[in-house]
Amino acid sequence: MAEQLKDKVILVTGGGSGIGRATSLGLAREGAKVVVCDLNEAGGEETVGFITQKGGQATFIKADVTNKDQVEALIDGVVKAYGRIDGAFNNAGIEGQTSTIADCTDENFDRIASVNIKGVWLCMRAELRQMQKQGKGGAIVNTASGAGLVGVAGLGVYSASKHAVVGLTKTAALEFAKSGVRVNAVCPGLIDTPMAARLIDGAPEMGDMIAAMHPIGRTGKPEEIGDAVTWLLSDQASFVTGVSMPVDGGLVAQ
Ligand code: NAD
Repeated sequence: MAEQLKDKVILVTGGGSGIGRATSLGLAREGAKVVVCDLNEAGGEETVGFITQKGGQATFIKADVTNKDQVEALIDGVVKAYGRIDGAFNNAGIEGQTSTIADCTDENFDRIASVNIKGVWLCMRAELRQMQKQGKGGAIVNTASGAGLVGVAGLGVYSASKHAVVGLTKTAALEFAKSGVRVNAVCPGLIDTPMAARLIDGAPEMGDMIAAMHPIGRTGKPEEIGDAVTWLLSDQASFVTGVSMPVDGGLVAQ
């Protein structure tokens, strides 16, 4: 089968770990030139190494998605490296501290909102401006969460931040539909990544409980999110925009 993303230039934020890494590898396998962005330089460079070892094309650019200047420099860096940007996976995110709404601190709220909402918005703004300049459309996928579609006790601000990602996704999809830029989100269930390990740290019974909450009876693999993102970024999803797609073993269908 032909490569679905041959020569498309695609940015992945949070590409140094977990879902972002698996997706970067999947995109490269489908022929994309991948720009891996992360705060964590070692993780990002390692992802690039995995891609290039397999004959794929990738470059690392360090940026903090909460910082406007760094995000604008990131998009300039993508254009400098490969001449344009065709697609983006705005995936960098944090879980913050687990707490009830009543116990959540100001600092926890600000940090989660800054990375998960402002970070996605800053990246989308810069990507959309560049895509408009190019005039050839494009595709964007944001990482929301099952927690962006339903509430999760103990993760209230995280859940609110992911509901915000769904709102940003729908709105951008409406605003840019006529320009040929499709904007969608993925809503993963619990996926086996370092973030999930931190969330269930020291409480393996919680991991089993969460796995059992997924009708499929297990947690997901980062590659299973990568496959959905690859499809959403490809021309095979040409009539799909404004969707926040659960990829969660049936979790939010209940
Ligand atoms: P992870 O912690 O393994 O990876 C996240 C990556 O984002 C890290 O490499 C980290 O350095 C990077 N990052 C964090 N803040 C950043 C910033 N300000 N600027 C640039 N990079 C930054 O987590 P993951 O599980 O791969 O999560 C990826 C995304 O998926 C997140 O948005 C998360 O909320 C979402 N998600 C994860 C799960 C899950 O179960 N793992 C479920 C639903 C949604």
